[in-house]
Amino acid sequence: MQIELPKGRLGVMVSGGWDSAVLWYLVSKQALAEGREVLAFTAPKPDDSVENTNAVLKTIANFLQTDIPETNVRGESGQKDPDDYWLPGRSLLEEVIENDEVDVMFIGGNKFPDRKTISTILADRKNIERWPTGEARFFAELNSLPIDVISPFADMLKDEIVKLGFDVGVGSLISPLTRSCIIYGPPCGQCYWCKERRWAFKQIGKNDRGNQ
Ligand SMILES: [Zn+2]
Repeated sequence: MQIELPKGRLGVMVSGGWDSAVLWYLVSKQALAEGREVLAFTAPKPDDSVENTNAVLKTIANFLQTDIPETNVRGESGQKDPDDYWLPGRSLLEEVIENDEVDVMFIGGNKFPDRKTISTILADRKNIERWPTGEARFFAELNSLPIDVISPFADMLKDEIVKLGFDVGVGSLISPLTRSCIIYGPPCGQCYWCKERRWAFKQIGKNDRGNQ
């Protein structure tokens, strides 16, 4: 997959999770090829999101043999309302828009599987109904913002994005560095995102050295 970069100042929301790590690799690789700058942005969540993101940026910069950037911390932690899963992301975007920092923001949200797959394999419908990232209406909401928000993985399932990471050569590098849990603390293994990640690795027959 090659990411097309629109004109304007570029940013990527990088969370310390798998999808945004793959996205950061693809966007920064293309920006490097075009001699353009791209900024990483991270909300300060209590799951060591900033530290994890900087580890991802360092590893990918070494892989691309380029200078190591640091992520830009914007928005709120979400601790005030832990039930609002998208609060850190939303507040990050609001602050970036208010500061007029980029014209284009890439985000790594992925599509939820169909209901049958969720029910039979992931068995956790309640969580994703509360946190509807991954559904069409979530991506539609992003389209109403005054900057260009691009979600290249919006039509991809988690297993396709995990496979993509390995196909483009960064899978084994980012696997131990990234986490996909919704709970602030060690990955719980029980939430939708832990189960989705485990399901995705199993689907493509790879071992996950992260999210432990
Ligand atoms: Zn979890």
